[in-house]
Amino acid sequence: MAMPPLNPSLASQQANPMFRIAALIHGRGDVLHLEFGEPDFPTPAHIVAAAEASLRDERQGYGPGNGIPSLRAAIAARVARVNQFTPTPEQIVVTAGGTGALMTSLLCLCAPGDAVLVPDPAWAGYDAMLAVAGARKVYYPLLPDQDWQPDFAAMERLVTPRTRVLLVNSPSNPGGAVFGRAVVAHLLAFARRHDLWLLSDECYDEMLFAGEHVSPAALEAEERGDAGGRVLTIGTCSKTYAMTGWRVGWVTAPPALAPALTLAVSAQVNNLPLFIQRAAEAALTGPQDGVGAMRASYQARRDLAVEVVRARGLLEYVPAGAFYLLVHVARAAGVPAEAPFESVAFAERLIATRRIAVAPGAAFGPRTARYVRVSLASDAVTLRAGLTGLLDFAAHDPSEATRTEQAP
Ligand code: PLP
Repeated sequence: MAMPPLNPSLASQQANPMFRIAALIHGRGDVLHLEFGEPDFPTPAHIVAAAEASLRDERQGYGPGNGIPSLRAAIAARVARVNQFTPTPEQIVVTAGGTGALMTSLLCLCAPGDAVLVPDPAWAGYDAMLAVAGARKVYYPLLPDQDWQPDFAAMERLVTPRTRVLLVNSPSNPGGAVFGRAVVAHLLAFARRHDLWLLSDECYDEMLFAGEHVSPAALEAEERGDAGGRVLTIGTCSKTYAMTGWRVGWVTAPPALAPALTLAVSAQVNNLPLFIQRAAEAALTGPQDGVGAMRASYQARRDLAVEVVRARGLLEYVPAGAFYLLVHVARAAGVPAEAPFESVAFAERLIATRRIAVAPGAAFGPRTARYVRVSLASDAVTLRAGLTGLLDFAAHDPSEATRTEQAP
């Protein structure tokens, strides 16, 4: 039967290969899971207790679209501590995770047909957001031989009169790159020169193993003497506090943007549930020692993964942040640079033959089409067994590893 047309930018959207991998392993306890960035720690008890107390003692009614004032004040203090700039609570809008913060921002910054500069490789989640906003993705390269730092010369050639937003993600998913002060200054100058918004996804800002976290908004504030300007900063409780399923994050923006951001949140969810906001407040204002302990554990796993890959002569870089490692599996399987390689078929066959799940590099952009991403958020035993199995599969079973058709 004929149907009325759908929104073409959504209807034409290809499903990300991650969804296919997720469908293959859904509910399977016999698979070593290295595919998702899902912390394996429980949410700290004092955060859960704050949510329980709210559910017990407070009416769970409608609330302000930009979030309750006490949570916005707690976020402002946290941003001053971690991101090194000091927004007023009025510059902060509470959202459904970093995802909600990014979606809300893109809805405010882009008209349909506008272009957004997105890193290649980038987190796969941006694609659907750009489709919903009707915006076009234009990749700018990150360079594998320079620890996945941006290629500024290439970026200059990508800007057109329709380019509105430069999206930056440090510490980055999937590369684990951390952009230092000089690189961030360069990105900010680039955004200024081309009159772009700078949307800074800092969801991993407390997952740092080396160097310092530099927020573009902090540099902007140093230069301008306030936190206004062109930078929007995205934060979340998901990774730092092992709260992925709670769905609470925020965007910090120049004051003039707060009404439009609040409108976009209100249109989607009206407001976040009160008990979730109380939990986020407890996370941000309560004891922080759990954060350091989780970070130390991720760092130990990063070291373990680096050691396993280095022992095979395949280490290209050491991730400085987030909790991922990119492994060049085409090289591990001895595939010549000019020969085709399918990271999705590789990841499917790895599940079928070895029961190991990783994220295919094609999910993140053309630059990582010959890689897979290994998540360091899995426990050390799973990580060692999975990574060793992955490298064995590539090295000892290359005809199976490099077959290009999809697994049954
Ligand atoms: N940004 C990046 C780079 C991510 O990797 C993720 C999640 O994996 C998010 C944002 C979204 O995080 P959340 O919506 O759980 O806060």
